[in-house]
Amino acid sequence: MVLKFGGASLSNPARVVREVRAARSEGAPIVLVASAREGITDLLSEAILHPRSGTLHRRVVEEVRRRHPDLPPTGIRQVDRLRRLLEQVERSDGHDAPLIDRVLSQGERVSVHWLAQVLQNDGLPAVPVEADHLGLITDNAYGASCILFDRSRGPVRRGLHRLIARGEVPVVTGYFGRSLEGRVATLGRGGSDYAASAIGALIGASRVELVKQHVAVLSADPRIVPEARPIPELSYEEAEELAQFGARVLHPLTIEPARAQGITLRVRSLDDPTVATTISPGRAGRRNRALTLLRPLRLLRLRVPGGRQRPGIIAEASHHLAAAGVNIVQLYTSSALLCLVLEPPHVLTALRALAPVTREAAAMVEGPHRVTLVIAIGDGILDDLDRLPRAAVEGAEGFSATPRALSIAVPEDRGPEVLRDLHRALVTEVGP
Ligand code: ASP
Ligand code: MG
Repeated sequence: MVLKFGGASLSNPARVVREVRAARSEGAPIVLVASAREGITDLLSEAILHPRSGTLHRRVVEEVRRRHPDLPPTGIRQVDRLRRLLEQVERSDGHDAPLIDRVLSQGERVSVHWLAQVLQNDGLPAVPVEADHLGLITDNAYGASCILFDRSRGPVRRGLHRLIARGEVPVVTGYFGRSLEGRVATLGRGGSDYAASAIGALIGASRVELVKQHVAVLSADPRIVPEARPIPELSYEEAEELAQFGARVLHPLTIEPARAQGITLRVRSLDDPTVATTISPGRAGRRNRALTLLRPLRLLRLRVPGGRQRPGIIAEASHHLAAAGVNIVQLYTSSALLCLVLEPPHVLTALRALAPVTREAAAMVEGPHRVTLVIAIGDGILDDLDRLPRAAVEGAEGFSATPRALSIAVPEDRGPEVLRDLHRALVTEVGP
């Protein structure tokens, strides 16, 4: 079993120790994966944002050290390495992506040395393991890399099995691996969930548990919808839609490795043992509805005369956008309208990139309109169309649905209110 502890949960070491003991008492070997302690990755990002500020860097190093009391010598060496890396950042032009990832990875490295020591102090045979040394291989997309399973499988299995065979408990860093070029590559913010699920898949774990302090998979963000409630079960597909549609609780790539191997993923709260979400193939057909917001976004309407009769018009538009590095967050179409939902910083680039299309296809672009996407996820969501409150569709700029996810673009400032209305109609009034 793989047990992953999020940054905030590490603030409660006594509970973590208890969790590890309980997991071990089940009898199967365990592998731990740990995030950086809460706020540490933010501090490191802050340090990188100010590449020349030696004063800030020294403060950050001091703070990292202060947040990891009683570090063993191996952990102190990682803090020293952080200091040297930041000095290197001060001398660089601030745009060295692998160096930045190297700095960011130090949060997890210090964390596992600290956590292993905490567990050892309690008599547990914990051993810190740094994922790049273990052989968790990623592509070269620094800052948002993907794990390469075929290359990682051999070294990760061998490395972890060797420790497990000795009766030890590996404590592996989340968040990063080693790129094909042999440098440190991070998996994107929140990447420790993804690392844990990948490690579970690589070693053939039966279960991966993601332990968070107070976060759980809820029916909506409780800061916007106070009556949001925990979701006990999700299918892989529902969880994947949820993670990719911006529910912050899981890194978007977390689900796929578990799905591919049929591993049960459990997301649970350390705060409240009754709150847990099981993500597995054998879901009992429960009717889940989870709602999220994506914002701020901009919608462009591309009006194509005779659009339906023009083969390839969507390909043409998206080809030009892709070449300019613009990601289409959502696409709504009718016969003459192509509505593109984009992130605000991409709008000007998109308008320029679409110029050839407007010239050649005599299309007209209208917008940008400020929108929020309200998204409802759950198997069989189309059965709920008759429940949609009027307020949700009134004045909507776009609507699209598959049997599992429904998205409505509403004027930007109405997002939260529409989310609450939808939640009332699809979750609260329907009951558990
Ligand atoms: N420490 C990294 C972050 O804060 C990775 C993680 O916590 O999952 O994004
Ligand atoms: Mg974190």
